[in-house]
Amino acid sequence: MSKEIPYKVYLTENEIPEAWYNVRADMKTKPAPLINPGTHEAMGASDLEPVFCAELCKQEVNDDDRYIEIPEEIRNFYKMYRPSPLVRAFCLEKKLDTPAHIYYKFEGNNTSGSHKLNSAIAQAYYAKKQGLKGVTTETGAGQWGTALSMSCAYFDLDCKVYMVKVSYEQKPFRREVMRTYGASVTASPSMETEVGRKINEEFPGTGGSLGCAISEAVEVATHSEGYRYVLGSVLNQVLLHQSIIGLETKAALDKIGEKADIIIGCAGGGSNLGGLIAPFMGEKLRGEADYRIVAVEPASCPSFTKGKFVYDFCDTGHVTPLAKMYTLGSEFMPSPIHAGGLRFHGMSTILSQLYHDGYMEAVTAKQTECFAAAEEFARVEGILPAPESSHAIRVAIDEALKCKETGEAKNIVFGLTGTGYFDLVAYQQFNDGKMQDFLPTEEDLQAGFSHIPDTSDVKF
Ligand SMILES: *Cc1c(COP(=O)(O)O)cnc(C)c1O
Repeated sequence: MSKEIPYKVYLTENEIPEAWYNVRADMKTKPAPLINPGTHEAMGASDLEPVFCAELCKQEVNDDDRYIEIPEEIRNFYKMYRPSPLVRAFCLEKKLDTPAHIYYKFEGNNTSGSHKLNSAIAQAYYAKKQGLKGVTTETGAGQWGTALSMSCAYFDLDCKVYMVKVSYEQKPFRREVMRTYGASVTASPSMETEVGRKINEEFPGTGGSLGCAISEAVEVATHSEGYRYVLGSVLNQVLLHQSIIGLETKAALDKIGEKADIIIGCAGGGSNLGGLIAPFMGEKLRGEADYRIVAVEPASCPSFTKGKFVYDFCDTGHVTPLAKMYTLGSEFMPSPIHAGGLRFHGMSTILSQLYHDGYMEAVTAKQTECFAAAEEFARVEGILPAPESSHAIRVAIDEALKCKETGEAKNIVFGLTGTGYFDLVAYQQFNDGKMQDFLPTEEDLQAGFSHIPDTSDVKF
């Protein structure tokens, strides 16, 4: 007999985790450290302090503490929108006629519309606690900028956002949300920074990229008294904060006595996926349980599946430290796909190491097939997904359809990272049949790789 499973598994407020889980503590091969681009020396917390908030630097290099307590002020903020629901997609299962059980962890249930708020509030808190005046950042599609401007408003911090120019132009409403929360928003590459002027000169008329916007935001932070730079993905500290997604998911599954078989997430810089899988990966690393873990990246920006696992810059202007990661090259210019949050040339070092060591898989999906999955999902489950999230939906549906063929009742869990209400221009293109798929050619890839710095002298 099948047991009764609710549509939504809500934890109570008291079940919000009290500590983030640091998966690095359980990794046998630790992610490689950030290195100084000039000297190629590993960077410790104090080396990072001119750029990032002090406490966040400590978190960045902390490979040892399995749990890091969530400060009470952050927990109180989390209570406004957490725990987020784990939803059983009964209607989708029925529509697909699959024996699989499909669950999604919905992170779009806050005003910023995505999981990014989980780390934004933490980063703003540590900046405030350090007595800073403000922070600078980049934003691609705008979700991170929105989450950060909300968080800065909450702690009364100044917030300067460099927004990738194509998104700035395509998404004026997103920009206005950020300004409403008090942030200043500049299209990147701008003419306000040295690196922006250089990029504009080199690539006239460019729509920008996350890599350009990062360079500008770092330049402004390091040249302004009382400011630091904050980043919404990729970094170890961000994956740490996002572990709250996975901890809640695991607690909710445990509550109903279900075990995940396949865990799926979209991967841009790797923060939502890293957070979702963290406690499951921990069990896998400690040999306590096994899961299939699948990263889904856009076919147009395939860092895991087509990239190289080497040290590279995180930005186009080469002002950041080097990170060892799967990368397409910092000057790889991704085609203008609509999942702006997935247009990053690199990948989290934690996930890169785990992928390299065979603990997870990666697949690509084309944007038209992702939008088709998003529509199928929206029509039965009601939620209008963010284009980024639709990558995970695509693969969740495909896996559920495989179960239909084999008759297996697997438990499929995926991350529904956000809502797509600001992405309706993309939905319009899809509905009008005008959306195209872009795949990088071998030449595009080689052009990106040709700018990867030589770090053959680095030992780790
Ligand atoms: C930013 C974003 C992503 C991708 O970023 P990751 O760091 O890879 O998680 C995915 N979904 C949404 C809704 C986003 O805003």
